[in-house]
Amino acid sequence: MPVEIRCPKCGKLSPWEGNRSRPFCSERCKMVDLGVWVTEGYRVPGGPEEDTAADENPRDGEEES
Ligand SMILES: [Zn+2]
Repeated sequence: MPVEIRCPKCGKLSPWEGNRSRPFCSERCKMVDLGVWVTEGYRVPGGPEEDTAADENPRDGEEES
C-alpha cells in the first residue's frame, strides 16, 4: 500500500514515493509556495528593512511639487 501525503498547498493527496516535489503534490504547488514566501505571504513581522527604505526614499518631495 503506497504512502500518501497531503499537499500543504492545495490539500490534494499524492504519493510519497517518487514525488520530487514533496511534501507538495507537484512542482507547481511547490513553486507557488516559494513564490508566496519571496513576495508577501510569509513576510517576517517586525523586520527593520521597511523603516530603513522609507527613510532613504526621496519620493515624498516630488509628489508635493
Ligand atoms: Zn498541491
